[in-house]
Amino acid sequence: MTNEQLDQLQSNLRGKLIKPADEEYESARKVYNGMIDKRPDAVAQCADVADVIACVNFARENKLLLAVRGGGHNAGGLGVADGALVIDLSHMKGIHVDPVAKTALVQGGCLLKEVDHATNAIGMAVPSGIFGTTGVGGITLGGGLGHLTRKYGLSIDNLLEASVVLADGSYVKASATENPDLFWALRGGGGNFGVVVSFLFKLNPAGMIYGGPVLYDISEAKEVMTWYRDFILNAPENVNGFFAFLTVPPFAPFPEHLHLKKMCGVVWCCTGPAEKSEAALKPMRDFKTAALDWCGPMPLPALQTMFDPLMPPGLQWYWKADFVNELSDEAIDLHVKHGNKMPTPLSTMHLYPVNGAASRIDNSDTPWNYRHANWAEVIVGIDPDPANREAITNWSREYFNELHPHSAGGAYVNFMMDEGEERIRATYGDNYERLAAIKAKYDPNNLFRVNQNIKPAPIEVKVAFAEPPGVHAN
Ligand SMILES: Cc1cc2nc3c(=O)[nH]c(=O)nc-3n(C[C@H](O)[C@H](O)[C@H](O)COP(=O)(O)OP(=O)(O)OC[C@H]3O[C@@H](n4cnc5c(N)ncnc54)[C@H](O)[C@@H]3O)c2cc1C
Repeated sequence: MTNEQLDQLQSNLRGKLIKPADEEYESARKVYNGMIDKRPDAVAQCADVADVIACVNFARENKLLLAVRGGGHNAGGLGVADGALVIDLSHMKGIHVDPVAKTALVQGGCLLKEVDHATNAIGMAVPSGIFGTTGVGGITLGGGLGHLTRKYGLSIDNLLEASVVLADGSYVKASATENPDLFWALRGGGGNFGVVVSFLFKLNPAGMIYGGPVLYDISEAKEVMTWYRDFILNAPENVNGFFAFLTVPPFAPFPEHLHLKKMCGVVWCCTGPAEKSEAALKPMRDFKTAALDWCGPMPLPALQTMFDPLMPPGLQWYWKADFVNELSDEAIDLHVKHGNKMPTPLSTMHLYPVNGAASRIDNSDTPWNYRHANWAEVIVGIDPDPANREAITNWSREYFNELHPHSAGGAYVNFMMDEGEERIRATYGDNYERLAAIKAKYDPNNLFRVNQNIKPAPIEVKVAFAEPPGVHAN
């Protein structure tokens, strides 16, 4: 972009346009994953919808690469790109909770902890991810799995309406009644269809929950994972628990005798009255005494932000993921083998249950094509030191390669790195062609392509041939 172009764009914005020579450029170009080192041409810190429209028009008219950044958490760093104009929504943080309609209108730059703070004030929640620092934009457009999935479904199952700036610069609503094809595509199709400047969510009762981590020594992993598999597949839907391999951090409040010990365990989150939740988890406590049991009543935002301080921005992250239908004994043995080999103290593996409310929606009702998988698995190598990049990447890949034959085929888009078209197609399966057709309608020139990209379907060219006068077939 030339200086004249940048000046012209800035003159149309209320927010700041940050250029490579600016002091803030280094922080503005960074995303959560420290492995991502992209240098955009400019970052537009949009202040309002008009700024977003100005940026979309400017990028399209000047044929610029356009990236959109919500919370910046994407594993593959898809909120930024080399040489791009970045629409940074992080200054658009309005949240309006309607206690009568039981809805929350949330701007595209909000983080989950900001939404939880606003909705918890009336004892309600939007079901979403397990970290407070994740962006509402990316997580919702990809699906939104977390502590409330078994009870209330994915974030997209609670989305009522989205306000969207399209590739042609128009500003539209998408809901069950307005642009329903766009609304369908937004519920899992990622940032392919436009910039979602606000989301209207249905709220669900979840002020206080009964939950927290319950950990066991990794030597007991086979037994714990087998018990967990059998329990969660039949547990009441108010009981959510994701299985994890992890290493206990070496500082308070973690008990000293567990510091830096490799563990396995489950992070529980039950909605409803505490006594009922405690009773529902009695089989867990009867099964085995845990090395650490921090499961009890707490406000949902306390659980949602519990792990935030352990994973500050800027660490190196490498992810591999799959959906899983069946956790066979053989697959459990492989998990135990690789869980024992976690290369660094922050590396982890999570299995998030999908069975429950999310599975009662048909695969074709939204693009999210693995409604009947039982888990979304994610293997994540993490470390602050770039020198360990290879170690965390190799561990994640080797673990994934051995488990992949036991998977359902595709992966949850929000847990994928930049892995190419084949993996994207595997993820959307039968829904891919419909997504491609909707992409062709709303973004035919693929302006929004810094994402898990769905290529616009080729437009069918229908040519009508007029019959020459006097020539008739007999
Ligand atoms: C620590 C951590 C914990 C996580 N936990 C969970 C979890 O519990 N559950 C879960 O489901 N996922 C989880 N994720 C994955 C997360 O859903 C994805 O990383 C998601 O892409 C993050 O969204 P974001 O807005 O922060 O990211 P960004 O990097 O800003 O954006 C991601 C993608 O979405 C697009 N996008 C973002 N906002 C908009 C918008 N408003 N309009 C159009 N396009 C947009 C971007 O262009 C980009 O392609 C976690 C990730 C991390 C790093």
